[in-house]
Amino acid sequence: MDPVLERAYHKAAAHERLSVEEGTALLDRGDTHVLVALAHKRRMHLHPEPVVTYIVERNINYTNACITYCRFCAFYRRPGHDEEYTLSFEQLGQKISASREAGVVQILLQGGHNPDLPLTWYEDMLRYIKREFPDIHVHGFSAPEIEHIARDVEKMPVRDVISRLRDAGLGTIPGAGGEMLIDRVRKVIAPLKTTTADWIDIHRTAHQLGMRSTATMMFGHEETRAERVEHLQRVRELQDETGGFTAFILWTFQPDNTAMWRYPRLESHEYLRAATVSRLYLDNVKNLQASWVTQGPRIAEIALRAGVNDMGSTMFEENVVSAAGTTYCMNANEIERSIEMCGFTPKRRNVFYEEVAA
Ligand code: SF4
Repeated sequence: MDPVLERAYHKAAAHERLSVEEGTALLDRGDTHVLVALAHKRRMHLHPEPVVTYIVERNINYTNACITYCRFCAFYRRPGHDEEYTLSFEQLGQKISASREAGVVQILLQGGHNPDLPLTWYEDMLRYIKREFPDIHVHGFSAPEIEHIARDVEKMPVRDVISRLRDAGLGTIPGAGGEMLIDRVRKVIAPLKTTTADWIDIHRTAHQLGMRSTATMMFGHEETRAERVEHLQRVRELQDETGGFTAFILWTFQPDNTAMWRYPRLESHEYLRAATVSRLYLDNVKNLQASWVTQGPRIAEIALRAGVNDMGSTMFEENVVSAAGTTYCMNANEIERSIEMCGFTPKRRNVFYEEVAA
């Protein structure tokens, strides 16, 4: 057998830390059944209870105006476009109110890089949410959005922007905008967007300020398998340094209606293999989420036996991935049914993975 692959199998089975070379061997040449078994073993070691968590969250995209023009994005509109929008605070409040009965505990608040919105607008929005909905947690503003406010709009340090957003009510930061943390790839798919070093530094800064965030990977386009593992390595390194990531979420690129429509949609088999290697490689990130939004509920259920311990969030409204041709939707009941069908007990959580009442 390939000696690197054999070593990687042994180390993964013994819960030892993998190198980039070993992770790449697993992703490239590992037997899928072996990867699934190893990842599930590791998952059960990290989470011995037969429980799968999920969160009741509402996604709100506050603006679609954007000057970053990522080639993989079908959501944004150039400023001045007929379909450009920015939600008023009242519209935002109506969306939150409408989802309260369903048990929403958190909003995922993300938008385009709108050059017309100053930092004070974001602060006012957060203060409005905290005043009207004090118990709602705001998980919002990806690293590129924060960089856009700091660099393009206010010309002030990222640290100051994060501090002010936190003081106005921002709770945690989503890992969006990570895509692939490989500058060669970023230059092809999103040349105007945050560099790898800056994405990492923004999360590092947030962690240093006492905030938690998530890490993500959007794959299945320009990158090689070895680069997927390098991406994992960068996440693992920052987690060693700060311990600030609560979870890792990976999903596959959705090509419809984007400038990258020629890239073939990645097969679910490749998604599942990447999930297993993520579980094995990220030995310091406790939670791994299923991406039923891109893969559909049935593949997400398989992922629950392939290293994944969390079903992510409910979906009331989603504008970014659905603009690129993906239309899966699940409410809390459907998520719970999926979890139970796989032999696990569903448990509702908050962003910190603490149990909340259903
Ligand atoms: S992914 Fe975000 S930053 Fe990139 S074009 Fe779309 S809205 Fe703008």
